[in-house]
Parts: sequence; structure tokens; C-alpha cells
Amino acid sequence: MSDLASRLETVREQIGRACDRAGRDPAEVTLVAVSKTFSVEVVLEAYNLGIRHFGENRVEEASAKIHAASRLDPPITWHMIGTVQHRKVKDAAGLFNIIESVDAVQLAERLESALAPVGKRMPVLVQINVGGESTKHGFPINAKQELVAAIERIAVLSHLEIRGLMTIAPIVHQPDEARPYFRAMRELVSQLQQQFPKLRLTDLSMGMTDDFPVAIEEGATIVRIGRAIFGSRR
Ligand SMILES: *Cc1c(COP(=O)(O)O)cnc(C)c1O
Repeated sequence: MSDLASRLETVREQIGRACDRAGRDPAEVTLVAVSKTFSVEVVLEAYNLGIRHFGENRVEEASAKIHAASRLDPPITWHMIGTVQHRKVKDAAGLFNIIESVDAVQLAERLESALAPVGKRMPVLVQINVGGESTKHGFPINAKQELVAAIERIAVLSHLEIRGLMTIAPIVHQPDEARPYFRAMRELVSQLQQQFPKLRLTDLSMGMTDDFPVAIEEGATIVRIGRAIFGSRR
């Protein structure tokens, strides 16, 4: 078995065990393999091991891989998980299948302008800065009014479909220390669901290599895992 195959097997076992602990069905948890910095050959190897969702954080780097893998059947679902620069909005709108990193109303409006002429509907997640860290993007979790106002404005954009929330938890020493952040995210998404009954806020994208089992225990429906699958990045 290749290194990639055995690491992937380990990750899948860990996902299964976390679901068992939480009494959840593993089918509720989508594994996004974060392939940033890795080649298209590596992406294809993971695809052949059954991975269908990949995450990238830079439009230009993703573009080459998305084109190279465009004929696969079943197709790959490409997740944009990084900050979308203004001048890359149109490319991102054309390339990705879901944008997890909507961190400003202005970005949502620019996406809408790029999507409308081509008639493409884009699932999006609203990024939350759950730890209130200045180094991270996203709506601060404790500015609830601003967040609600932002969602109201994004929800009217007819080519965007808000599916839920995404976050990157602060780096902690023990995975368990991230639990309160994940729990706060789950509470937030259920509050928002009550406030916006017309939206279907079913997705909670949280959990990475260092903390995904805890995120799953706390309700993650999407985990974004890079190093645990592909090894460390250069
Ligand atoms: C790189 C990255 C990941 C994956 O991180 P690992 O620690 O390698 O699992 C997940 N989410 C985002 C937004 C990232 O940029």
C-alpha cells in the first residue's frame, strides 16, 4: 500500500470512530482532501482511492489542477477554502463548485456579478472567525448583528446558495481545547437557521488535521484535511 493509501485509511478510520462516539452516520461527513501545494498526480492518486472532494486555497494553483482533472467521471467537487482576492473572483466563480470562504458581503456581490451572466449557481459557506483572531478572515463570531445583516444581504443574491458556515479554529495544544469553538459554531448555525427559516443551513465545515475528530463529535458535516492525507507541506 502507498503512503497516501495508508494515511487515507487511517483518516477514514478516525472519522468512523469519531462518528461512532457521537452516534453519527459517517455518510453525514464529507471528507475534503486539501491538496494545496500538491501536484495533480497526487490529486489523481487520491481520486483513485475514492476521494471526490478536494480543497484548494489559491485560485491560480487550483486552476491548473481543475483543468487537468476536468474529464474525470464521476467528477471532482472542488472547494475553495482560501481568501478570494478581488481580481480572482471571476476565475474562482468559473472554476470551483463550492466557495467555503465567503468572508465579506462585497465578495458575495462580486461573485454574484460573475455568476449571473453565465447562469451558474454557486453553493457558498459563510466564513466565521471563531477565535476572534486578527490573523484570520471571516465574520467575528461575537458580532452577531453584523453577521445577520450580512447574511440578509447575501441571501438575496440569486446565484449564491448559502449552505452553512465554515471556520478555522485557533491552534491549540490539545485537540480537546478546540471543542468550545466547534460547539459555538454549532450553536451559531442553529440560531441562524431559526432566524432564516427559508435558508437550508445544513453544512458546518470545520476540523483539519489536528482537530477533525473533535470537530466531528461537535457536528462538522465537512472536514478539510491536508497533512494527515498528503503528508507535510513544503
Ligand atoms: C490548509 C488548510 C486546511 C488543511 O490543513 P491541514 O492542517 O493540512 O489539515 C484546511 N482548511 C483551510 C482553510 C486550509 O487553508
